[in-house]
Amino acid sequence: MKNIVILGAGYGGLTTLKGLNGVVKNGQAKVTIVNKNSYHYDTVNLHEVSAGNIKRDEICLEIKDIVEPGVNFVQDEVIKIDTEKKVVYTKKHELDYDLLVVGLGFETQTFGIEGMLDNALPITDIVAAEKISEKIESNFKKYAESTEKDVKDISIVVGGTGLAGIEFLAELIDRRRELCKKYGIDEKLVKIYGLDAAPVLLPMFEKSYSDYARKYLEDNGIEIILGAGIKGATNDRFIVEIDGERKELLASTLVWTAGVKGSRLMDATFPELAKNGRLVTTQQLTVPGLEEIYIVGDCAAFIEEGQERPYPTTAQIANQMGAYVSKHITNRLNGNTTPNFKYINRGVVCSLGHKNAIADAMGLKYKGFFAAKTKKLIEAKAINECTNLKTAIRNQRII
Ligand SMILES: Cc1cc2nc3c(=O)[nH]c(=O)nc-3n(C[C@H](O)[C@H](O)[C@H](O)COP(=O)(O)OP(=O)(O)OC[C@H]3O[C@@H](n4cnc5c(N)ncnc54)[C@H](O)[C@@H]3O)c2cc1C
Repeated sequence: MKNIVILGAGYGGLTTLKGLNGVVKNGQAKVTIVNKNSYHYDTVNLHEVSAGNIKRDEICLEIKDIVEPGVNFVQDEVIKIDTEKKVVYTKKHELDYDLLVVGLGFETQTFGIEGMLDNALPITDIVAAEKISEKIESNFKKYAESTEKDVKDISIVVGGTGLAGIEFLAELIDRRRELCKKYGIDEKLVKIYGLDAAPVLLPMFEKSYSDYARKYLEDNGIEIILGAGIKGATNDRFIVEIDGERKELLASTLVWTAGVKGSRLMDATFPELAKNGRLVTTQQLTVPGLEEIYIVGDCAAFIEEGQERPYPTTAQIANQMGAYVSKHITNRLNGNTTPNFKYINRGVVCSLGHKNAIADAMGLKYKGFFAAKTKKLIEAKAINECTNLKTAIRNQRII
C-alpha cells in the first residue's frame, strides 16, 4: 500500500484529495492531508472578509467535514521536507511518504520595499483578512470618537490594483457606506486610493472593460493612481514616485496586494530549483529529478511545452492541477501512464462588489449584474471541484 501525503488544504490540495478517494476506498493507498488550520478558507473571497462585508464562517470549511472515511487529516504546520529521507516534518509529527503532493499556496511579496512588511497589511489568509477589516473599523471608530478628527483615520490606501486589489477596493464601497452610517461620518470625507506602478489597469481585460471598472470605482469616490512606483511605507503613509516626483499618501489603514510568491518552504526544500517559492515543474507536474513529488497551485510554475512563461497562479489552475495529479497518481498505482498536463483557461471575472463585475469568460465578454452572478457560480464550481456539490451550494452566496 502506497503512502501518499498531501501538504495544504487549499484548492490544489483538496482537489487532489478528492480525486484520490477511489484509491483510498479500494485499499491501494493510504492518504494523509496536512494543513496548519482545522479549516480550508476560500482564498478567492478573502477580499470580502478584508473589507468586512462577510464573516469567516461564510468562506471557511472544517476539513474534518470534507475528508472521506479512511483519509488521515493532520492539523499542523509543515516546517521541513526531507526529500532524501522522504519525510515531512511538522511541528509535532514526522510523516513518511512514498508520494508527496505540495500545495502550500502563497505568501506576500514586498520586493524589498522599505517598511512594507511592517506597516502594510497583506490579504494572505483568513486571519490577515480579519485584521484588515478590524483595523478599518477601529480607525473609523477612533475618528468618530476623537475631537481632533484626523482624516487619516478614515483614509485607506491600497498598494496594487491587480485583480485582488480592485476587488477589495470595490468591496470598500459598501463597507464605507455601512461604517459611515454606524459612526455618523460624512461619506464624502472618506478617502480611498488604489495605487499601482503599472501604467494600465487590469491588462487581462479589453480596454473598454478595464475603463468600465475604473469608472465604477471613480464614480464611487475611489481614486485610482497608476504609474505610481511605491518606494516605501511608514505607519501612516505610502511614499510614491509619480512622473519622477515624490509624493506621500496618508492613511491609517495601508493594505498591500501588489505581490505574492509561493511558500517559503519551496525555496528551503529545493534551493536550486525554486525561486520566490515557486518551482518550474515537469510537464507532469513533478519536481525535475524527483518523480515522487508533485507540486500544485501557487507553488507550481507550469510552463506548457512551446511556451516561455508560466501561467499566472489562480484557483482555476490550482484546481486543474489537483485533478490532474490525482489522475496521474491513480494511473501510476495501476501501472498506467498519463498524458502531459494541459491547462484549459476558461477566462477571468473581476468582481466589483456584490452586484457588478467585468467578465471575459468562456469566449464571452460582458459586465454588470450577470457578470457578478457568473463570478459567484465560478466560486461555487471551484468549491465543488475540491469538495462536493452539497458543500458548494451551502457555502456560496449565489443568490
Ligand atoms: C483576494 C484574492 C482574490 C483572488 N481571486 C481569484 C479569482 O477570482 N480567481 C482565481 O482563479 N484566483 C483568485 N485568486 C488566487 C487564488 O486564490 C490562488 O491562486 C489559490 O488560492 C491558490 O491555491 P493553492 O491551493 O495553491 O493555495 P491556497 O488556496 O492558498 O491554500 C494553501 C493552503 O496551505 C496551507 N498552508 C500554507 N503553509 C502551510 C504550512 N507550512 N503548513 C501547513 N499548511 C500550510 C494554508 O493554510 C492553506 O490552507 C485570488 C487571490 C486573492 C488573495
